[in-house]
Amino acid sequence: QTGNFAGKVILITGGTGNIGLATASRLAGMGAAIALLDLDEGRLAEACKGLGTQDTLAKGYVCNVTSVEDVHKTINAIISDFGKIDFLFNNAGYQGSFAPLHTYPEDDFARVMQINVCGAFNVMKAVSEHMVSRRFGRIVNTASMAGVQGPPNMAAYAASKFAIVGLTQTASKDLAPYNIRVNAISPAFMGPGFMWDRQVELQASAGSQYFSTDPEEVSRQMINSVPMRRYGDINEIPGVVAFLLGEDSSYMTGVNLPIAGG
Ligand code: NAD
Repeated sequence: QTGNFAGKVILITGGTGNIGLATASRLAGMGAAIALLDLDEGRLAEACKGLGTQDTLAKGYVCNVTSVEDVHKTINAIISDFGKIDFLFNNAGYQGSFAPLHTYPEDDFARVMQINVCGAFNVMKAVSEHMVSRRFGRIVNTASMAGVQGPPNMAAYAASKFAIVGLTQTASKDLAPYNIRVNAISPAFMGPGFMWDRQVELQASAGSQYFSTDPEEVSRQMINSVPMRRYGDINEIPGVVAFLLGEDSSYMTGVNLPIAGG
């Protein structure tokens, strides 16, 4: 574990999802107080209950990151409840449809951009206003390897994650004078579980020249494209987030770290 986060307050968006919750759990174990932001009240309550057993302050906030008003209200509530926000893990996201470009549904493209790009911007903007006033902040955005090399059948997702990398670079420059560092992580294939299965099935059903139409074969094709010949475990992500939030990365900003098995 990198650093010691006692006394630090972190906001995690997409906080009840796989990566958000695994990261919350790790940072709670390092002493941080946790504000989880997500869409579903029940899942937030359950997640906070789990984190509470680690003897940390954890509170859930229902908020849709696509609503500027909702985001501002929520950030204000978190600052009022916790006194401050030191760290932001800007991680809420949606993978979208799988279809070749010429049949990709327009409404889904817009939805992916709204959630992944506008949502990430809305949260980062609102939180950085607060961080600028305190002259302190550490931000980690969740991009994706799809934001480094566009995969087939994922036009919206790839475009949205390339945007996150750009947003990270610009934010790192704009916020550097205020002692705020902004970095990104780019996970690739993570599994097992819902995201992996969904991806494999949808790539198979997209029927492109790049993947088989048999999900089991798609799974093998994907794994064979990874130098380490396996998918990543969700629990291989939180340590990298903690590194970027903590002082071991004190001279790093604007960087996008791949978590991709090579
Ligand atoms: P997940 O679906 O488990 O978590 C995403 C969370 O974001 C969900 O809890 C969802 O409710 C929340 N969310 C979606 N739209 C929202 C909105 N409008 N407002 C507030 N919250 C919203 O998936 P995950 O794997 O934990 O993904 C987390 C991040 O990691 C995403 O940005 C995703 O694109 C990225 N990512 C995941 C993988 C992977 O293979 N799992 C790989 C690369 C990148």
